[in-house]
Formats: sequence, structure tokens, C-alpha cells
Amino acid sequence: MMKPAAFEYVRPETLAEAVTALDHDDARIIAGGQSLLPMMNFRLVQPERLVDINRITELERIERTKTGLRIGALTRHANAARDPLLAEHFPIVAEAMGHVAHVAIRNRGTVAGSLCHADPSAEWPLLVTLLDGEIEILGSDGHRSAEPSEFFLAPLVTDIEEQELVTGVHLPLPAGPSGMAFEEVAQRAGDFAVVAAGAMVRVENDTFAEVRLGLGGVFDTSVRARALEGALTGQRARAEELEAALPLAIEDLEPNDDLHASADYRLSLVPVLARRALIRALHRATQ
Ligand SMILES: Cc1cc2nc3c(=O)[nH]c(=O)nc-3n(C[C@H](O)[C@H](O)[C@H](O)COP(=O)(O)OP(=O)(O)OC[C@H]3O[C@@H](n4cnc5c(N)ncnc54)[C@H](O)[C@@H]3O)c2cc1C
Repeated sequence: MMKPAAFEYVRPETLAEAVTALDHDDARIIAGGQSLLPMMNFRLVQPERLVDINRITELERIERTKTGLRIGALTRHANAARDPLLAEHFPIVAEAMGHVAHVAIRNRGTVAGSLCHADPSAEWPLLVTLLDGEIEILGSDGHRSAEPSEFFLAPLVTDIEEQELVTGVHLPLPAGPSGMAFEEVAQRAGDFAVVAAGAMVRVENDTFAEVRLGLGGVFDTSVRARALEGALTGQRARAEELEAALPLAIEDLEPNDDLHASADYRLSLVPVLARRALIRALHRATQ
């Protein structure tokens, strides 16, 4: 493997110092380095300055807020997988983390690194899209937040400006008891998903009060199957109703052919994974 081009290395201790360090023509944040370093080694990117945020420990916290959970930008995939708050409120996170790469990469890779890398097959963008997360961003003008549909613009492209950093993501708690499940097909364990599906189901009075289905690997960004979600809400909470709505899961999807899979194969996986995820989520919601 080639080595990266020369770069200046800065390691701020605080968020304010990080924002100042980013005020440079070609600065790039490094978090876990699991996506950035390979790209630098292949010289696909050649930043002049690397801003290493690993010493800003306040970015590592996972905490309860009034309305949900806040996951700090530097939370490692492995720590998210074993966090008790996430396990209690969003057990789907640990389930999904089992599909992210391998142990060494999960120990280094971070939530915000994954969101900012914005691979359309990656697990974190799909989870945040499914769970209606809000991405928290800091820049020289102060704080702002973005919904997933505003943040993820295209494969590997987000709406984050060069001088901004993601500080965390807020996940609102579902409006009542819910069931969640995650399913994925990859060529080998630990590879990026060919297709991934995450489901969240809420049942009230034997009726679907809320159904959400998030999909990865089938569009330029993670997406929600809004047609299916709308059709199921208010229906009787039965597996037969879910089965009947499955054809709606592929509405508006535009998968690409690439080295890993054809667009047709990806489309054919969607109802299979959607069915598995939705039925398991329904089962958990009604247990
Ligand atoms: C062999 C291999 C297999 C993998 N398999 C998977 C997989 O199956 N699923 C999956 O989801 N991922 C996979 N990954 C990627 C891994 O999850 C990375 O950890 C993740 O994509 C990037 O996180 P990071 O912290 O390493 O980010 P880095 O590599 O440090 O940075 C990635 C990008 O995000 C930017 N960035 C990082 N943090 C911030 C921040 N706080 N604010 C603004 N910008 C920021 C960087 O500037 C850079 O552009 C794999 C990686 C490898 C090497």
C-alpha cells in the first residue's frame, strides 16, 4: 500500500481549539481513521492538515436527554454495542454493530466518522435515518443540527462544511413501547452490506401505531420506505398485513450496479430483508 502525502498534524484538546484548527484551506478531521487513512494511503484525498479530535473526551459520552439519548461523536462502534443506555432504549444499535467490519475496526471507528464518511451501505447512517436522529454540528458560527435527509446528500457527500465538525447525534425515544430489528446481507461477514434493513414497529390496541423501515445499499443514501410505512400505519398489527405491504418497500429505490452486486439483485433482497426485519420487530413489539 502507498503511504499518504505529507500533512501537518494538529491535536486540539477542546472543541473551541478544534474549530480554530479547522479554519485552514485544506484541513480534515481524523477520528478513528478507519476510512480516512486508507483513502489517504491510496492518495484519493491529500489533506494539508489533519485535525485529530481524539483528545476531546467530552465527545465520547452517551447520555440521556429529556427526550432521548445523545451519542457523542467519538463513541466507538464497539462501545455503542455494549452501552447499557443504548441496549435499554435502542437494542437495534448493538444488533447492527455486529455487522460493522471486524473487532479491530469497531474498536477504533466512530459514530460521527461513519456518518461523515456517508457510505450508503453503512450501518450508522441507516440507524440514524430509521430512528429520526438529529445530527449535531459545530462551526465557527456556533451550533446547528441537521436531519438525516438534509445531512446525507450523495454517496460519500454530506452537507457538512469544511470548517464544521459533528459533535454527536440525538436519537429521540419512540412515542411508546416498540420492537426493533436489523437484517443485512453482505458478501462476507464484516463486509459493507449489499443491502441492509432496519425496522421499528409500535403497536397500540392491536393496530400498527407506527411502522418504520430504513434501507441501506439501495439508493445514493440510506432511505426510509415511506410508501410502506404509510400503508401499514393504522392497519391491524398482523404478519399478514406486513407481508401484503412488502411490494411497496421497493418503491422509488434506485440501486446501482457495482462490483459487489447488480441493481436487480439488490432490489430482490429488499422484500426478503424487509420481511425478516418487520416480522421480528412486530414480534418484539407485542411480546
Ligand atoms: C476493512 C474495513 C471494513 C469496514 N466495514 C464497515 C462496515 O461493514 N460498515 C460500516 O459502517 N463501516 C465499515 N468500515 C468503516 C468504519 O466503520 C469506519 O470506522 C467509519 O466509516 C469511519 O469512522 P472513523 O471514526 O474511522 O472516521 P475517519 O476515518 O477518521 O474519518 C472518516 C471521515 O469522516 C470525517 N470525520 C470524522 N469524524 C468527524 C467529525 N466528528 N466531524 C466531521 N467530520 C468527521 C473525516 O474527516 C473523514 O472524512 C470498514 C472499514 C474498513 C477499513
